[in-house]
Amino acid sequence: MILIDGKKTADEIKKEIAEEVKLIVASGKRAPHLAAVLVGHDGGSETYVAFKIKDCEEVGFRSSLVRFDDDVTEAELLAKVHELNSDPDLDGFIVQLPLPKHISEQKVIEAIDARKDVDGFHPENVGRLVLGMPAFLSATPFGIVELLKRYQIPTSGKNCVIVGRSNIVGRPLSILMSQKAVNATVTVAHSQTKDLAKVCAEADILIAALGSPEFIKADMVKQGAVVIDVGTTRVNAPETKSGWRLKGDVKFDEVAPKCSHITPVPGGVGPMTRVSLLQNTLLAAKLKK
Ligand code: NAP
Repeated sequence: MILIDGKKTADEIKKEIAEEVKLIVASGKRAPHLAAVLVGHDGGSETYVAFKIKDCEEVGFRSSLVRFDDDVTEAELLAKVHELNSDPDLDGFIVQLPLPKHISEQKVIEAIDARKDVDGFHPENVGRLVLGMPAFLSATPFGIVELLKRYQIPTSGKNCVIVGRSNIVGRPLSILMSQKAVNATVTVAHSQTKDLAKVCAEADILIAALGSPEFIKADMVKQGAVVIDVGTTRVNAPETKSGWRLKGDVKFDEVAPKCSHITPVPGGVGPMTRVSLLQNTLLAAKLKK
């Protein structure tokens, strides 16, 4: 069994990005610039945004943080989005989700200029992905495909089962995995799938993205399968300083011995999601110039 080290792979990609940034700056151009918009004080969102800012520093990007209180109106947030869209010194930005209930996430996503949509959530980028055109790819699917590539895991003709069909993970990932560069035969499973255990057990590549801790058990996994665990659920852990720990969707201890490759949680898909945002921002900066 090979443990897929997402942290190590992401660190390698960060080094490659940092080298490119050095060349950009040496040629007299400014460093790529990413902004993050954070609404409210949700613990998870605060952590994710802090990581994104830290990642920017590590590779030599400029970063900006735009904060709003929970009671910001939709109109105020949309006005900020329009301002960022037209800021010539900014290459890309993200609006950290989820947003408070009184704000339409879809409206906000659609207001972002697709050329600065480094999260890859704008319908134009999703449409381009579906058509196989160059696009900003949603960070988690982008990171997973990159991980498979860098570990030289064969995908062509393989039976890939993805559990979960969300707009940010399962659905875009199913499209990427079925594209000609990857060539997997893809099944997308969800909460209405009949006999899920049997469907999963037929997978050469099983990707769990449902958000249910330790849902995938050993009897749902084929001997020799590649298992990618996207799930990150915070579960109570009084023994830790924070009081919680991250659990994946896969019961790691019993599944790992059956696998040819498996990602851990944490340290698997998460770091790759973060680095994909940097890759998208670098691409946005290059396209602009
Ligand atoms: P989501 O929007 O809640 O979607 C979950 C999907 O799983 C839905 O399609 C749902 O089916 C399906 N599902 C739920 N329970 C199921 C069950 N018992 N059997 C079969 N299918 C089931 O979640 P998400 O945003 O895609 O995130 C999924 C997980 O990945 C979460 O733990 C999240 O925290 C994690 N995540 C991690 C990263 C990372 O970088 N590591 C990034 C993004 C998300 P229906 O459509 O039928 O409801």
